[in-house]
Amino acid sequence: MLPLKKQERVRMLAAVHSRGAAFTAIRVVVITLSLGILLAIPLLGIVQVDLWRGHHLLLGKSVDIITALKGFVVAMMVIYGGTFISNMVVGRFFCGWGCPVGFVSRFGEDVANARTKRSKLLNHLKGAGFVGTFIIAVMLWWVDPMVMVEGSWTARLVTIGVFALLWAGGFGHAFMWRFGFCLNVCPIGLYYRFVTSRAPVGIAFIEVPSPCIECGACEKICPVNIDPKALGKEVVQEATNYDAEPERYGDAECIRCGDCVEACRMVFKKRPGEVPPLRFGRVDETPVEQKTG
Ligand code: SF4
Ligand code: SF4
Repeated sequence: MLPLKKQERVRMLAAVHSRGAAFTAIRVVVITLSLGILLAIPLLGIVQVDLWRGHHLLLGKSVDIITALKGFVVAMMVIYGGTFISNMVVGRFFCGWGCPVGFVSRFGEDVANARTKRSKLLNHLKGAGFVGTFIIAVMLWWVDPMVMVEGSWTARLVTIGVFALLWAGGFGHAFMWRFGFCLNVCPIGLYYRFVTSRAPVGIAFIEVPSPCIECGACEKICPVNIDPKALGKEVVQEATNYDAEPERYGDAECIRCGDCVEACRMVFKKRPGEVPPLRFGRVDETPVEQKTG
């Protein structure tokens, strides 16, 4: 049985999807790009550390393992650097849109959302296909795929065993951990949680005059349990702490997934002529609460 918050989110997601989720196509494009980069690097021989027969590659040339590992570190730094720069501008946008692990969480939710056996099966198959492709992309960095054709039976069985273990982990993630992993376990997510304090762009809330009808849909759908209406606002420090770097409510936890914006839009579809108060944009710095600790 899922914890209450997860059930509420799944119900709210089902309502949003039944009215046509606006961001689905964009989300698919971003994740395809992300997965494409992950696949292209080893497949094009930009970097591959081949733990099977030692045919290591760097920029299309055969190299020794130390050089290939250096290339691996540089590739990771480039990928990470890209997300770090985007984190400074739009916060944890990568977590909400470009991270394959986050996308796996959505497949778990799609299965929970399915109303018929047929759509449940279809969502299972789509999720299994995505998880499989993601794992293949990760494994290609470490083993030449020819292992399945030319490798010994031991090498093939080890490769299949690693794939099966990672695949099972993907299912565990989709059905049990989901976005809690992004918030509490993922090393990149945890790092962002501590360094993201003042990203200027995120989820903005129109406050004056506020069109908000206090329906609570945005809070129910948020995968990381924050109130999107207060996001990005400066948390007032205690008098003794007034020199400290200002904190922003929930900014380091918000993965910029946009689900709250979609939920709010869904609510306002029934209120023609009125503007939904939640949107992507510059966040303001209105004080939101007095710190007590
Ligand atoms: S506040 Fe909105 S954008 Fe941020 S994590 Fe929650 S639902 Fe996603
Ligand atoms: S979904 Fe929109 S209208 Fe409802 S509480 Fe959130 S901001 Fe207000």
